Amino acid sequence: MNIILFGPPGAGKGTQANFIVKKHNYFQLSTGDLLRNEVKLKTSLGKEIEELISNGKFASDQIVNTLLRKSIVNLKFRDRIIFDGYPRSIVQAKNLDKVLDGFNQNIGKIIFLNVDRQIIEKRIIGRVTCEICNMTLNEFFNKSEIELHPCGKEFLVKRKDDNLQTLIARYDTYITTTKPVLDFYSKNKNFNEIDGSSSIEEITSKINDILKV
Ligand code: AMP
Repeated sequence: MNIILFGPPGAGKGTQANFIVKKHNYFQLSTGDLLRNEVKLKTSLGKEIEELISNGKFASDQIVNTLLRKSIVNLKFRDRIIFDGYPRSIVQAKNLDKVLDGFNQNIGKIIFLNVDRQIIEKRIIGRVTCEICNMTLNEFFNKSEIELHPCGKEFLVKRKDDNLQTLIARYDTYITTTKPVLDFYSKNKNFNEIDGSSSIEEITSKINDILKV
């Protein structure tokens, strides 16, 4: 069963996807991570993407769809994909249906993490991610975990787009372009909404319940 984790930036999609991957043996398809990998490769496409991401803008559908297709065609991930950060627009949602259909797959669960703007701000501004194990921590909420992080706290880095100015642009894009995708999915029988302002553990437990059904 493929899963969509949907929600505003900072809703905790990546954190929860990590748990699902470990517990249920899934593959996390984060379009943000795929794009950041391109940036790390320092190709001309990577430079173009970096500029867009740091301005809180979208990468083009063509770029994202190519990256997405590569994972969907991989049989190893068949019916075990968590989509994190995709779809982000109605066009992408329709494209996802089409691509999955072409490979005889579909979406089994859509999980919406609903969080308001104030909480998002603290989560994003304090967010650090480990370059080695990909764990995400928060400078406001996880002070001791950061000090004791097993890979070494020097590997915990901030994303370039996790600053207030870019967040304002990313949140605007979420409201105008991504939120309409909710209407597209909310009528679907596989749609589930979770209060994304609860603790990480509470959200994980609710997601586990949804995945059991
Ligand atoms: P994320 O890691 O999901 O917060 O994504 C970081 C940034 O990557 C976003 O702010 C966008 O600039 C870009 N991005 C991620 N996913 C997509 C997507 N599905 N379509 C277009 N741009 C994306």
